[in-house]
Amino acid sequence: GKPICECNTCFGGPDCSQFSPACVADADSGDPLFLEPFWMEHAASSALVVVGWHRMSYTFNDHSFISRNLENHIRKVHSIAKNAITDGRYILFGGGSTQLLSAAVYALSPENSSSPARVVASIPYFPLYETQTDYFNSVNFKFEGDASSWMNTTSSDSSINVIEFVTSPNNPDGLLKKPTIQGSTVKAIYDHAYYWPHFTPIPAPADGDLMIFTISKLTGHAGSRFGWAMVKHEGVYQRMMTYMSLSEMGVSRDTQLRALKLLKAVVQEGNGKEIFDFAYKTMRNRWEKLRQVISMSKRFSIEESPPQFCIFSQKVRGSTPAYAWVKCERKEDKDCTAVLRAANIIGREGSRFAAGDRHVRLSLLKSQDDFDQLIHRLSNLISEEDGTS
Ligand code: PMP
Repeated sequence: GKPICECNTCFGGPDCSQFSPACVADADSGDPLFLEPFWMEHAASSALVVVGWHRMSYTFNDHSFISRNLENHIRKVHSIAKNAITDGRYILFGGGSTQLLSAAVYALSPENSSSPARVVASIPYFPLYETQTDYFNSVNFKFEGDASSWMNTTSSDSSINVIEFVTSPNNPDGLLKKPTIQGSTVKAIYDHAYYWPHFTPIPAPADGDLMIFTISKLTGHAGSRFGWAMVKHEGVYQRMMTYMSLSEMGVSRDTQLRALKLLKAVVQEGNGKEIFDFAYKTMRNRWEKLRQVISMSKRFSIEESPPQFCIFSQKVRGSTPAYAWVKCERKEDKDCTAVLRAANIIGREGSRFAAGDRHVRLSLLKSQDDFDQLIHRLSNLISEEDGTS
């Protein structure tokens, strides 16, 4: 019979459950649509209507750019997730964590120094650190690539300032990271975009001097462009505030209003546990399917971190990262992205993360349809393995 409603272009059959042969599984971007069903369930409590005369001012009533109400809700969400220490920290907002990463590099770089701060990250790393630092080209900072190549230099030369991006859990490989370089002239920017209990067990609350979070991977509202930094030292906080004032006079009050509405709903639903339970179950379900398919393969492998005790869930948990960092094991499969592409699977090349092309990143954050396509294509590809290689 005819479909009752229109199927998504990648599906067919009377109940839209059959995979269309020509369709590609696009697992490239980190668009967090896996959270869409949660917000469909909570449509009323998360809806926002804003009348025309509301919040027209540049500032809130206390003359600041930052909603104290939103700041308090952020502290509450961290205390529910048990993922960060907020006491004694300054909080400031950014247009996504993207803007705060740049503000942090600016704030941690020396002024009037004869040599720029060396900005580093350990491989594989999120490409924006490099492209953004290069783009905002400054005499005060310079991107220098792999952190480990600076380990010996800093211990022998204390005049060199180093800024290390520490991404934990890491994008692309999902591992919990610690700084590679130590020393009195080394400062870390902790990018905790994925440090939420749905992606990783939380072994302890994070307490870095400069930590960056985002709603993009917490509530899934990547398009609202809202992130926050938690900063221990007042001087660094002031410099980041200067950056935010000069570049944009603070984050859009409309965005702050939406973020507040969403976090209010997060805090209310199931005493704040419901979103984490939903998101964890979705990610765990996806990882179970993916592990099962990969376990049939000799051609592809995924390195995973061992389970550990999670203080949020009060039990030992495996990690369920946002991305699968897949490795091609066969000698001839030098370009793993091309191997998957030939099977109609789009991933992101390892070279984009300064790693080799034996690796490819697959996003597990997209919609259920996208994920189902991915598993369908992967299991087809793996079922073709002849078992002799
Ligand atoms: N940091 C990491 C590690 C990311 O993966 C991303 C987005 N994919 C960001 C920061 C930026 O996120 P946003 O600007 O949406 O907050």
